[in-house]
Amino acid sequence: MIRTKSGTAGNTLYRAITVATLLAASTTPALAADNVILITLDGLRWQEVFRGIDKTLATHEEYSVRGEQLLDQFWHEDPQTRARALMPFLHNTVFTQGSYVGNRDAESCAQVTNPWNFSYPGYSEILTGVVNPAIDSNGKIPNPEKSILEMLAATPAYKDHVGAFASWDVFPSIFNVERSGLDVNALGTTVDPQSPSEVLLTQLAADIPTPWETVRHDAFTHHYAKSFIIDRGPRVTFISYGETDDFAHDGRYDEYVFAAQRADRFIGEIWQLVQSIDGYRDNTVLFVTVDHGRGEQPLETWQHHASKAAVAGPMQALAQYEEGIIGSENIWMAAIGPGVPSTGLLQTGTDCLTSNRIAATLMRLLVEDYRQYNAGMGAPMEEFLQ
Ligand SMILES: [Zn+2]
Repeated sequence: MIRTKSGTAGNTLYRAITVATLLAASTTPALAADNVILITLDGLRWQEVFRGIDKTLATHEEYSVRGEQLLDQFWHEDPQTRARALMPFLHNTVFTQGSYVGNRDAESCAQVTNPWNFSYPGYSEILTGVVNPAIDSNGKIPNPEKSILEMLAATPAYKDHVGAFASWDVFPSIFNVERSGLDVNALGTTVDPQSPSEVLLTQLAADIPTPWETVRHDAFTHHYAKSFIIDRGPRVTFISYGETDDFAHDGRYDEYVFAAQRADRFIGEIWQLVQSIDGYRDNTVLFVTVDHGRGEQPLETWQHHASKAAVAGPMQALAQYEEGIIGSENIWMAAIGPGVPSTGLLQTGTDCLTSNRIAATLMRLLVEDYRQYNAGMGAPMEEFLQ
């Protein structure tokens, strides 16, 4: 048995669940979860999620060195079959047993609320539930807003029971670790290994060159998160995979697609893991989303994302796109677990659901009143609540 700071892993989780059960009993709903796992895939377009691979990009000699492999593995004439081939866990499990939004081919719309369509503002909106106009950069600037992890970790029921794992090295700033005291595991942070597998992971992370200056391979983020869930029994876990965005910025459509496929498998592994652990099984909500979309036309804009305001200001490298990267405000969301209805596709028409409502939705699923934490948060999305 692996020892943790506060005893055995099982005991830690048991205590957390007991406290949560007592709290839940005093407030109501028949269906609610004691645990939430929020997963983000950086800038994975709704187009790939709901239409599968794009043939023009997959056969493009500059964008897809491994194009033949893409076609072999993922091409089907029917878009739905194609999408299912790329992201089988999302389609076969989350979309069928839970609810999802953002397939714009089916009158289902989700968007960011922030005016920029790039990462830090997107993650801050997701995690804090508010859009602060001062957040206009991807720089390592301590976030003036509080994430739901910070708010909840300040309460006895969640103290020492939150975890955050990210491939991008800006997340310690997005979580304002100096103020929040949250232990964020991301590229550049120091890890104190708690088990033999974490010792190996930490050694490999130090010995394998990072693929990008600011983003590590998602495998490290993923396996650290799994290890933490097993050993520490967190009630709120955030996992941010980053490879999709960086391969897209590199202009590698093939690798972007393979990263999406891996992320789908990773999400499936997280779900299988929680269903195998007492206390988590049938007691955990998985919520999956992205921080922004990407372009579609002109063709090369699949690599980019930025609003009209962003290209006129902080994203001047894209200034030739005077209207910004069209469509990069479009996102998607999906959820599964106790308290989430099995509606499948949420048809919104033009009444788009928005990222700033995710934080309060997760609060509600945990039977917490978001207004007691920050009344300025976007309201919970009833569509994701039973
Ligand atoms: Zn991003």
